[in-house]
Amino acid sequence: MNAPTQPSVFAGAISRLDKAFQYADIDAEALERLKHPKQILQVSIPVRMDDGSLRVFTGYRVRHDDTRGPTKGGLRYSPQVDIEEVKALAFWMTFKCAVMNIPYGGAKGGICVNAKELSRLELERLSRGFVEQIAEFIGPETDIPAPDMYTNAMIMGWMMDEYSKIHRRRIPAVITGKPIPLGGSQGRDDATGRGAFYCIKELAKKRDWDPTQIRVAVQGFGNAGQSVARLLHADGYQVVAVSDSQGGIYKAEGFDVPSLIQNKNQSRRLQAVYCSGSLCETVRAKSITNEELLKLDVDILVPAALENVITAKNADAIRANVIVEVANGPITCEADEILHDKEILVVPDILANAGGVTVSYFEWVQNMQGFYWPLEEIQRRLSEMMCREFGHVYDWMIEKKIDMRTAAYAVALSRIGEAIASLGTAR
Ligand code: GLU
Repeated sequence: MNAPTQPSVFAGAISRLDKAFQYADIDAEALERLKHPKQILQVSIPVRMDDGSLRVFTGYRVRHDDTRGPTKGGLRYSPQVDIEEVKALAFWMTFKCAVMNIPYGGAKGGICVNAKELSRLELERLSRGFVEQIAEFIGPETDIPAPDMYTNAMIMGWMMDEYSKIHRRRIPAVITGKPIPLGGSQGRDDATGRGAFYCIKELAKKRDWDPTQIRVAVQGFGNAGQSVARLLHADGYQVVAVSDSQGGIYKAEGFDVPSLIQNKNQSRRLQAVYCSGSLCETVRAKSITNEELLKLDVDILVPAALENVITAKNADAIRANVIVEVANGPITCEADEILHDKEILVVPDILANAGGVTVSYFEWVQNMQGFYWPLEEIQRRLSEMMCREFGHVYDWMIEKKIDMRTAAYAVALSRIGEAIASLGTAR
């Protein structure tokens, strides 16, 4: 007898649609389209390694839906990357862009690689090789990549350069999240965390929170996790726990986040600094596991790392009042039900982490216009858009008496449905 197959992360992602459908203004045929990615590309990327050997890496790019505009979404470098994950991530991008009402569809890509094992030159050859393979699939008016897990501005710069070389002219708008001297935008670096921070501030108004009384735990201390922790700390919130892939640290009185960030970026590991002998003493932090962090008695839990960390197995043990999904897909569908029954408010990923793609949109607009905005302008526009769409989704949740994820999908589905209907039925 065959072992029961695990539902894929993509199947989990699309199952959210059926639930939102009944609250959305979209017809059943349009919904059916959204259950299937528009295009999938798989490529093999041969890379000459520093020792002279050849390795061949597998890369993907999936365009999920382009009804509302060119497809948009990041590129991930991780050993976990596979087609099911990329399909799910592309799907989420479609809804993220629709919930923010930015004129994009969704896409995602990635390479199955442990980027930490590659030298800088190997990484550059891999990144340029990948662009060579996907050059016909991407473009400023078709599909626009960006950074995601284990990719950064430097990699985006190489990719833009490679794409421009192929086309024999400079095309900065093909990719976002670039270094500022190559056409990147002010404020793109902390945009994901900042967007989540604006959501939390809006929620604080609704719940009449005093930030100094609110305890926060952040799982994942990469770009987005660090930014949200830094902004919350600066606003008076108590960041009592943080973790990275090696494990976490807890301090009941709250951490001084800027020095945590400084240490993490010097040592690249939280544990190494805080829990090895004397330094552990200095900050008086307790060492905890990633699993323990999720179950802490805090007000806000911020999963900012991987998918599927809150599942049917641990959802019942979650004690936070609010979960703000800075990672993509950190909560499974089964866990969603359990959290809803426990009256834990989940601010869904497609809204909470949409700050990154929103500032990517600003970057693309600036590239297309060749006119660049100051940081204050970026932050003002981001704040306006996040607060507006947070309020919109929150109101749907209250009005229709549904959870916030279903409300976000219903808002996004209605906008996509309207665009599909405007195209007519012959398409
Ligand atoms: N990778 C980010 C996300 O998942 C940003 C995508 C973008 O800027 O296009 O939202």
